[in-house]
Amino acid sequence: MTDSGARRPSLDRVVVVGASLAGLRAAETLRQHDAVGSVVVVGDEQHRPYDRPPLSKKLLSGEWESDRIHLRQPDVFDDLDVEWMLGAAATGVDLDTVAGAGGVTLADGASVAFDSLIIATGARPRRLPGHDEFDHVHELRSLDDALALRAAITPGGGRVVVIGAGFIGLEAAATAKALGNDVVVLEGASAPLIRGLGAEMGDAIAGLHRAHGVDVRCDVRIDALTHDGVRLADGELVPADVVVVGIGVAPATDWLDGSGLEIRDGVVCDANLNALAVEGAAVPGVFAAGDVARWPNGLFGEEMRVEHWTNAAEQGAHAATNLVHFAVGEEPEPYAPLPFFWSDQFEHRIQFLGRASADDEVQVVAGSVADGKFLTLFGRDGRLRGALGVNAPRWVMPTRKLFLEHATWDDALAAGRALGA
Ligand code: FAD
Ligand code: NAP
Repeated sequence: MTDSGARRPSLDRVVVVGASLAGLRAAETLRQHDAVGSVVVVGDEQHRPYDRPPLSKKLLSGEWESDRIHLRQPDVFDDLDVEWMLGAAATGVDLDTVAGAGGVTLADGASVAFDSLIIATGARPRRLPGHDEFDHVHELRSLDDALALRAAITPGGGRVVVIGAGFIGLEAAATAKALGNDVVVLEGASAPLIRGLGAEMGDAIAGLHRAHGVDVRCDVRIDALTHDGVRLADGELVPADVVVVGIGVAPATDWLDGSGLEIRDGVVCDANLNALAVEGAAVPGVFAAGDVARWPNGLFGEEMRVEHWTNAAEQGAHAATNLVHFAVGEEPEPYAPLPFFWSDQFEHRIQFLGRASADDEVQVVAGSVADGKFLTLFGRDGRLRGALGVNAPRWVMPTRKLFLEHATWDDALAAGRALGA
């Protein structure tokens, strides 16, 4: 571990670990700065960076093939002047950047030296006991996962049980149902998406699925995966030909164990995305971005880790820019975005701006849940915290301005109602 001090990091050789969205955007941003020497991207998947959102939607449905999900066309990759080390898993790191002796250890024992490091290893699915014992039990994070699941649920007519009514579960359920399967969703909480959207909006999303014939069952306790389905704690067997497990993810930080970095449900960073040591000081030349990064977002006055596409893209670029700023002696800029995500489920487009929690005040201000088109605002402590739109992009996007102006809850409600008037 290095002494943090005010020492400037060196840009002679920057290594990015994680060859997906945040890592790609970091590498592209580094290449835009003449001060940066060589850029190496280490990634454990064999594939060049690809887009994950279609994995549960158009790729899973068969509408798209793998060649549609490249994040950049092959010639653009080739021209980037980046060394790609793919199929190479990082297993450890030595962070001695001040002494110029930093290095990432790979699974084959090789070491990749760096002067500065960007951590972009994302997150990995959580698993239930017994997952590996059954071929019909699937997770959905990678292209390989999606192709395996697609083969199992196409051409339909099967019994698909989805465990977890989060984003993976609901998107996979919608796609599997649209392919003509019988679909049951088993959720532990009292409604889908409850942590992010609260019970009322979670029920509204469940309603969209039930209207398509998906059996969404909440407050369910899983006892075990079995060879012919899922056994619940009350003894019921829910029969399945295919089981999809979507019970959340954990940040991919195992390779950082013992590194001296503070790891707490992610790589803990300061507001500039500079990774912190366990003693609390920023480690020169070490930054993090994407699903793996936890940082204090000044716009919301809270520490957060965001598991959505737009953040990974923006944060990867921002981390790289701040690294360069530190190295050349310019002021870094705190990363304070307005989080955004979208989710496509059946014909519905769900969009969310902000950061809500289950106990926020919730008001539908435009449209109605019954009509399947609405804008809902989330408030806490007299402030606007979140805006959810279902099939309502023209109502959601204008609320961005309200967040940036730190609108009061009352002003936000009035502005939201005016949108729908
Ligand atoms: P990741 O994409 O997880 O990439 C991290 C990379 O690092 C991976 O390739 C991983 O294999 C690699 N890695 C991990 N550990 C190591 C190691 N030790 N050594 C080397 N490499 C390593 N978001 C939305 O906003 N809207 C959507 O509709 C949406 N749909 C999604 C659908 C699916 C099926 C999934 C899985 C995600 C979806 N997301 C969506 C979320 C979004 O894709 C993620 O937030 C985004 O991919 C995060 O990017 P990342 O680069 O931080 O991490
Ligand atoms: P998620 O959104 O965190 O949802 C997981 C769900 O599973 C939660 O509702 C959780 O309930 C429930 N759950 C947990 N343990 C369970 C159990 N034992 N039995 C039944 N239910 C259980 O995670 P995910 O859906 O797995 O998605 C994985 C990652 O991909 C996330 O980072 C997500 O953001 C990302 N993703 C995003 C999108 C999008 O933005 N459109 C699409 C797909 C994937 P509790 O909350 O009560 O634990």
